[in-house]
Amino acid sequence: MSDSPSVGFVSLGCPKAANDAELVLTRLRAEGYRTAPAYAAADLVIVNTCGFIDAAVTESLEAIGEALAENGKVIVTGCLGAREDLVRAAHPRVLAVTGPHATEEVMTAVHRCLPPPHGPLTDLVPPQGVRLTPEHFAYLKISEGCNHRCSFCVIPALRGPLVSRPVGEVLAEAERLAEAGVKELILISQDTSAYGVDAKYRTGFWGGRPVRTRLKELCAALSGLGVWVRLHYVYPYPAVDDLIPLMAEEKILPYLDVPFQHANPRVLAAMKRPAAAEDMLKRIEGWRRDCPEITLRSTFITGFPGETEAEFQELLDFLEAAQLDRVGAFAYSPVDGAPATALPGLPPEAEREDRRRRLMEAQAGISAQKLARKIGAEMTVLVDAVDEEGVMARGKGDAPEVDGLVCLDDFFAAEPGDFLRVRIIDADTHDLYAQAVEDDDRGAA
Ligand code: SF4
Repeated sequence: MSDSPSVGFVSLGCPKAANDAELVLTRLRAEGYRTAPAYAAADLVIVNTCGFIDAAVTESLEAIGEALAENGKVIVTGCLGAREDLVRAAHPRVLAVTGPHATEEVMTAVHRCLPPPHGPLTDLVPPQGVRLTPEHFAYLKISEGCNHRCSFCVIPALRGPLVSRPVGEVLAEAERLAEAGVKELILISQDTSAYGVDAKYRTGFWGGRPVRTRLKELCAALSGLGVWVRLHYVYPYPAVDDLIPLMAEEKILPYLDVPFQHANPRVLAAMKRPAAAEDMLKRIEGWRRDCPEITLRSTFITGFPGETEAEFQELLDFLEAAQLDRVGAFAYSPVDGAPATALPGLPPEAEREDRRRRLMEAQAGISAQKLARKIGAEMTVLVDAVDEEGVMARGKGDAPEVDGLVCLDDFFAAEPGDFLRVRIIDADTHDLYAQAVEDDDRGAA
């Protein structure tokens, strides 16, 4: 095995890009390739790029340059790969360029540049494939591409229109992951709520049972696996309301990540986002009425072209009224090829950044107040890591990497992937502090 060809892998970008990387890594392992921990040990390097905003393009081009300088043999894939001309203009020496979600094309390029070893040891591949996440949680990609045309975004141009994965295939992957010890599945896509629209919600099969290709039915089926199921990137379609009962019944986590992006109707229209802010406040009220435990996460863009101070103030007012639990914000950054780049009235960079800072400051106060109200409550948490200071875990309202933590200082009697029953004893702006409850409940409730 040590003579097997060795491939280095650099993966940038979002969880969707990480999922593409996992598919390629799984194929490499299945065919007997080794993965190299350093450039010098690799026979070639694959760079999985991101092209979402200009900063990501720069970072991706730098990563390709570094791989070329350190190794010399480089295959480029991922979102930036959809702009092959740009990649080749900056780095003419790359061996091949493919777009995102292109496992077959990447493998064809690998075979051409580095033939697979004879007699691959396919049984070395675990049934759940090769993953980049820790063993206890996994991203489950349910579709690729997007049918929207948000004016600040080039994803539909890079990844194409919505293509939903067959529901049976998604459920079979989820089942393999759960059997391999994964305790939390995080559903991702460009637009999770649109799952099945392209397939006209056709009926698929899983374990001989019919299941419709639709988010509600998919979630209901996943709830039978006994693991946490969390939804990311949910566009606020009316059908989202149908998911709330599943959350209230604890079949899936009471957690919605809904990227609102703004609250002013004129800015939303310029962004080509459909929702109006008053409607959203009503929807939020309804979600909270039907599922009081729900955690709402959203993201916003500040300093969109033409955004006035008054319109930004409206966004701050919305934030105050909506009392969201988790918020991320980006200062608008023009993206090559996105329609919004041509819009007039771009606020200066310092203003865009200052509005982002003001928004996050306002949200920090809301977050601190909401977390302080949890002091004294008991909850089930999933352990992420144990180090010399104690345990770092997450509650049902905390997605990995983007939300806060539940920390148990000086407590070490747990391992990653354990469920613990804890009592909250303190809180700060983003994180909670807890003690284990004696009679701990390790079930995936
Ligand atoms: S919903 Fe809008 S922002 Fe999200 S991927 Fe589609 S076009 Fe881009």
